[in-house]
Amino acid sequence: MKHLVLATLLSLTPSSLVFGWGQPHHAITRGALDVLPSWQKELLGAEFTALGDSYCMIPDNVFSDKENARYARMESAPGEVYLKILHLPTQQPEYLEVMRYFMDLAVKSLREGRTGDAARYIGTICHQIEDYGSPSHTVPGDNMFTLLQQFLPPSDVMKDQLMHGPIENGDFSVSISGYQPRLLGTTVDEASWRLVHRVHDEIINARSTTVPIIQALYAADQESVVKNQLRAATMDAQVVADAVYTILCLGSEKYPSEEKSALQQVQIGGFFPLEAASLYYPQQQFYSSPHWGHPRSGIILAGGSKAMPLKLKLPSGEKEFSNGISAGMGKTLTFLLPKNIYSRFTVLAGLHPDLGAKGRVEFTVSGDGKPLRTITLNGTDPATLLECDVSGVSQLQLTLTSRGVDSKSNYAIWAVPTLLKQ
Ligand SMILES: [Zn+2]
Repeated sequence: MKHLVLATLLSLTPSSLVFGWGQPHHAITRGALDVLPSWQKELLGAEFTALGDSYCMIPDNVFSDKENARYARMESAPGEVYLKILHLPTQQPEYLEVMRYFMDLAVKSLREGRTGDAARYIGTICHQIEDYGSPSHTVPGDNMFTLLQQFLPPSDVMKDQLMHGPIENGDFSVSISGYQPRLLGTTVDEASWRLVHRVHDEIINARSTTVPIIQALYAADQESVVKNQLRAATMDAQVVADAVYTILCLGSEKYPSEEKSALQQVQIGGFFPLEAASLYYPQQQFYSSPHWGHPRSGIILAGGSKAMPLKLKLPSGEKEFSNGISAGMGKTLTFLLPKNIYSRFTVLAGLHPDLGAKGRVEFTVSGDGKPLRTITLNGTDPATLLECDVSGVSQLQLTLTSRGVDSKSNYAIWAVPTLLKQ
């Protein structure tokens, strides 16, 4: 009995309470490293294999591998050996800071010729990206699925099992051959900020695999379990490849010119604002006008239920947009900006010409809470291009306010919201 208690206590180290992909960490990291250009593989040299074989597990092994534990530690969290945030996302500003921190250390180590240190920091970053994109880490606050299992009652075979492990564990290999890693930035601030948004896409993708995996586990359909795990792991490997490729470009200050010029501007209509905490809109973010709903990217909902393309009236005629946001009155959307990377923000503000003809809306763009540009438009007015100086701004806010009498017609659109370096 005593032994049993001891064994139980030992098995309840913090790392086992959070878990993480386990074996698939290696498979995802190897799959990602495989598509790096040869100059980067040579740069990593002897560390190349160690990254996939062991460094990608550094954040899980901080208690057993004391020598490498320091590569998963932050000065801002003194004494904290196990940084939970390396395994589970909390809030955007926090995990952005963590990604920035380890990316910075990896880049500095590379620039100083300390490839071994760099590879270990890269391992920590790989682990974080992979854990965030694990099908087992997808339900905020329900890492063990005891809540989700109330929605999806377990089969007899699974009923006394913790679901975390079975959902993510497997023995598979990941190949993303043919994938071309993307440069995420030419500074650590820019690259870590873009990485956060890549990771958001991977989290959403992983969420779409969780329920199919659970259903397949209940049905003892191993083939379907692996198929869905691979769907998550494949995208995770692509994001890991982007991150490692970018860090190695930053470390050697080598940027392909085409990729560098593509970074001159970025459209943010598909990015999650801070209000979509945990990447969904909580109840308090729903608005009543023009209909009961929440901000939508890429579409506008007629009457709150029928998706229609984003459309604005321009001097040249009506035009549809795929990158943009439809939003409601009285709610602000806040986007984190990397400091001193972008100098301008442009957006087309207007009401949907068919749905919003009777509306009247005030559009305000603010930087760190200070209004930068405000305009009030009628539904029959053409859309207006708002242009703001965002140098030094760390939070960009878009706010809509009803200024008319027919609030049901306030179908407002922010089209092509774009950050520009010059
Ligand atoms: Zn982990």
